[in-house]
Amino acid sequence: MLTSIADRSVIVTGGSRGIGRGVARVFAAKGAQVLVVSRDLAQAEATAAATRAEGGRASGFAADVSNPDEVERMAAAAVERHGGIDILCANAGVYPAARMMEMTLEQWNEVQSTNLAGAFLCVRACAPALATSGRGRIVLTSSITGPITGYPGWSHYAASKAGQLGFMRTAALELTPLGVTINALLPGNIRTEGLDELGEDYLANMAASVPQRRLGSVEDIAYAALFFASDEAGYITGQTLVIDGGQVLPESLMALQEAGG
Ligand code: NAP
Repeated sequence: MLTSIADRSVIVTGGSRGIGRGVARVFAAKGAQVLVVSRDLAQAEATAAATRAEGGRASGFAADVSNPDEVERMAAAAVERHGGIDILCANAGVYPAARMMEMTLEQWNEVQSTNLAGAFLCVRACAPALATSGRGRIVLTSSITGPITGYPGWSHYAASKAGQLGFMRTAALELTPLGVTINALLPGNIRTEGLDELGEDYLANMAASVPQRRLGSVEDIAYAALFFASDEAGYITGQTLVIDGGQVLPESLMALQEAGG
């Protein structure tokens, strides 16, 4: 059993759907106060309302994580509504596919500004309040794509997710004197609205390439986030955790087939 996170103030960016919604609901179920953040206020509030209907404490907030002013307002809203910030789950991200040879600079920059600059802006804006907490925790949602694997169509995305880890390792050093840890989740393929948009063929092929023969659930990621956010994980910083059903393990198709399942 981990020490309770009841009453802790949590921000979940990209909290309106997918992995972020799973994180928001699991943290709220553990008694935390959750600020659910996305660009679409109605969607953020709908997720917050559903979380409250389950007995949790949550409210919605609209912010684009690539916009420094909106991110500062997000941090201020959490402090105003909850009295501080204990945990930041910097999860918002986009993954539009584009092959590298056809990719425009605008497409490249859009992904970097949300996934990479967005993580930096959220960490910077929340760091002072996280320091005041005395047990501040930051959990980034990176990916296996970039840090470990590659996939045609996602070179910009892979760069942003590997970049998050480079950012994290130096941020961890700068945050240590503030008593704040920062760690990253590396999900494999997790069943979310965003993943569903890639189509049935993608989902079926992906599930077949996972040794556990299934896509991950948002709860699989949320419980890993909960561990990094716990008191018990206080001596872990600048580290990564792969949650992928074994997807990165097979050396070859033959290794996957011989693993059976
Ligand atoms: P999703 O279903 O598409 O949800 C994305 C969430 O992020 C939504 O709440 C969206 O709301 C929000 N968002 C997008 N751009 C934003 C911005 N600029 N500012 C604020 N919020 C923004 O995605 P997901 O599959 O849950 O993925 C969540 C995170 O996990 C991403 O960082 C993704 O790269 C990572 N990840 C996912 C998988 C997977 O298999 N699903 C695997 C590895 C890593 P709005 O559109 O309203 O802003």
